[in-house]
Amino acid sequence: MDKIESIVLVTGGSRGIGAATSKYLGEQGYAVCVNYKSNLIEANKVIDEINKNGGRAIAVQGDVSIESDVTNLFEQIDKSYGKLTHLVNNAGILLPQMRVEEMTSDRINTIFSTNVTSCFLCCREAIKRMENGGVIVNVSSVASRIGGANEYVDYAASKGAIDTLTIGLSQELASRNIRVNCVRPGFIYTDMHADGGEPNRIQRVKELIPMGRGGKPEEVASAIAFLLSDEASYITGTFVDLAGGK
Ligand code: NAP
Repeated sequence: MDKIESIVLVTGGSRGIGAATSKYLGEQGYAVCVNYKSNLIEANKVIDEINKNGGRAIAVQGDVSIESDVTNLFEQIDKSYGKLTHLVNNAGILLPQMRVEEMTSDRINTIFSTNVTSCFLCCREAIKRMENGGVIVNVSSVASRIGGANEYVDYAASKGAIDTLTIGLSQELASRNIRVNCVRPGFIYTDMHADGGEPNRIQRVKELIPMGRGGKPEEVASAIAFLLSDEASYITGTFVDLAGGK
C-alpha cells in the first residue's frame, strides 16, 4: 500500500454533485474513494476518468444508511489507501413531492436514515481515522432554511439536521484540528429532481432565483474543494450557500 497524503471519501460519488466533486478532487491530487449505492456503471465512469487523467480512485459500493456498509466502506479505504484525511458527506435523496399530512413513517424514516444517520455514521468512522487532523464537508441544502413546503418538508428537515450536526460537530472537533463545514446547494442540474417526480423543476422555479438560472454540479464541487483545502484553514462550523442568491 502506497502512502498518500490526502485521502478523501465522497459518499454518493457516482452521479451529480458527488461525481463532479470526485473528479475535481482527483485532479487536485487526492486519492478518491467514490462511494455509490447501486449504479456501478456511473461509478466506474467517474473512477476511469480520474485514473485516466493520472489520478487515483476506487469505487466502493455501500448503502451509507446501513451501519455495516459504512464500516465496510471505511475498511476498504484503509486497505487501498490508508487512513482517511477528508470526508464529503454528499449522498442524499428526496422522494416524490407531497404534503406532510400524506407522509408515512416509512418514507420519513427512509429520508432521515439516508440523509442524516448516514452522515453521523460516516463522521464517526472518519473521526476515528483523523488522529492527525482532517476535514469534513457536509452537503446540506438551501431547503433547510426555505422549508420545502408542499414538496418535501421531510427532506428539508433532514437537511436542517445536517446544519445542526455541522455546528455541533465542528465545536466538538475544533481542538483536535478537524474542521467541519457545510455547503448548501439549491437548484443544481442533477438527476435528483426526477426522483422528486419533477425532472424539470429548475425550469419551473428559475424565475424565482435571483441569478435567473440553476447551478452546475461543478460549481458546488469547487466550493467543497475550497472548504476541504488548506486555503480554508481557519474556517470551521460555517456554511456556503450555492443557490444563485436565493
Ligand atoms: P443525484 O444526482 O441524485 O445523486 C445521488 C448520489 O447519491 C448517487 O451517487 C447515488 O448513488 C448516491 N446515493 C443515494 N442514496 C445512497 C445511499 N443510501 N448510499 C450511498 N449512496 C447513495 O443527487 P445530487 O443532486 O447530486 O445530490 C447530492 C447531494 O446534494 C444530496 O445530499 C442532495 O440532497 C444535495 N443537494 C442537491 C441539490 C440539487 O439541486 N441537485 C440541491 C441541494 C442539495 P447511485 O448512483 O448508486 O444511485
